[in-house]
Amino acid sequence: MRKRGLVRLLVTVMLVVLLSSVALAASGSAAGSEPARAKNVILCIGDGMGFGALQLARNVLLGPEGKFAFETFPNAAIVTTYALDNLVTDSAAAATAIATGHKTNNGMISVLPDGTVLPTILEAMQKAGKATGLVVTNTIYDATPAAFGAHWGTRGGSEEIAGQLFDAGIDVLLGGGRDQFLPSGKGDGKRKDGRDIMAEAAAKGYAVATTKDELAVAKGARVLGLFHKSYMNYQKDRAYLGTAEPSLADMTAKALEVLKGTKDGFFLMVEGSRIDHAAHAGDAAGVVAETDDFARAVGLLYEFAKASGDTLVIVTADHDTMGFSVTEPLDYDLLRAIKVSPEFMALKLEKGADGKFAPESIRKVFEEFAGVKDLRDDEVQLVQSMSSEASYKVGYAVGAVLAARLNMGIVSPQVQLKSPTGGHTGNPVPLYAFGPGADKFSGTMDNTQIAGKIAETAAIGFAPAAGR
Ligand SMILES: [Zn+2]
Repeated sequence: MRKRGLVRLLVTVMLVVLLSSVALAASGSAAGSEPARAKNVILCIGDGMGFGALQLARNVLLGPEGKFAFETFPNAAIVTTYALDNLVTDSAAAATAIATGHKTNNGMISVLPDGTVLPTILEAMQKAGKATGLVVTNTIYDATPAAFGAHWGTRGGSEEIAGQLFDAGIDVLLGGGRDQFLPSGKGDGKRKDGRDIMAEAAAKGYAVATTKDELAVAKGARVLGLFHKSYMNYQKDRAYLGTAEPSLADMTAKALEVLKGTKDGFFLMVEGSRIDHAAHAGDAAGVVAETDDFARAVGLLYEFAKASGDTLVIVTADHDTMGFSVTEPLDYDLLRAIKVSPEFMALKLEKGADGKFAPESIRKVFEEFAGVKDLRDDEVQLVQSMSSEASYKVGYAVGAVLAARLNMGIVSPQVQLKSPTGGHTGNPVPLYAFGPGADKFSGTMDNTQIAGKIAETAAIGFAPAAGR
């Protein structure tokens, strides 16, 4: 009897231990299934960074087996990008979709075609007490950043959009576009309303910077950094121009430094803006260099997010530009030999007495900056035919010559001319996610689904209104 009693006791003890460990495990998994919460959210947008552009950059920079840091993120999705009025989106409609959860027409900045103002994810983050920032290599008032903090019927409303972005109280604004922050007649200023927003910013306690060195020493909780009167220079051109512009990674590091101590967290949008511009110009070497700059910035953000544990990082593109594809006969040696952007080459062309670019100047520029020594007459004539056009359009011709020599797979100049977006395509784009809530981003998504998922993960009030 005593022996049986002991066995019974032992069995009871074992059962209790077993059950309590099961209970512990159950409570552990219950804790694990609680909705993931992100204190900070960082949204990185490679403007025009389609799958082909990304593969091209990977092949050149890392080799086929290499991965950019964001390509190691645990979650990825394919994102459709169409606009309300067009199967092919521009940056305005795409950024509106990403920032507000609503489709709108091309050209519109976070408003519906009927003028309805669409609340943005950045505004919702501000309401929730979070600090906010926009970091770009384009003008800060260009379509992508604009859609996060401004509302306007046309993307060309630069003066209004710049004013709205500043008035919105965004804590960190870094990029180009100084012309719309100064009154006409002062420095690079173009504002017609007489506002000197750079002075207003300084009076409100913002650290104001216009060079890389000034940015490095900028201190405080708010920074306005405008490093070019217009969009910032292409990465490849900066050494030749001797500019004092910070890289996207430099600006991103400063944004993190300013925002990371915020008690209630922050929302930061970082855009590699000029991947798109290089792509429009058919400039494969530029796409690679701009993607490199973007990937370095994302790398810094990834390191921060890994250490912080409560930061969601999303990396995506707003649309594909020019349908870049990595063709079989692609000439990687020529690609690596191209030293500057086509636009920079265009600016180096000299005109003859007839007012047209001189053939010998065209040949010299192609040899000096792209290593092309055997330019054909038809190629010279194509560039020469653009003699009276704006430099960026001359750049398109230079880029088209180089793209053809590279055997680059892109939208042809003829098709580009028929395209109101200047060569965007309706191809879907990649999205990568890391951190709390990253698993919400998977499968095939639409760009209107991103904002809602961010809000859910950040546990903030934000309801993309019913209907698109
Ligand atoms: Zn574009």
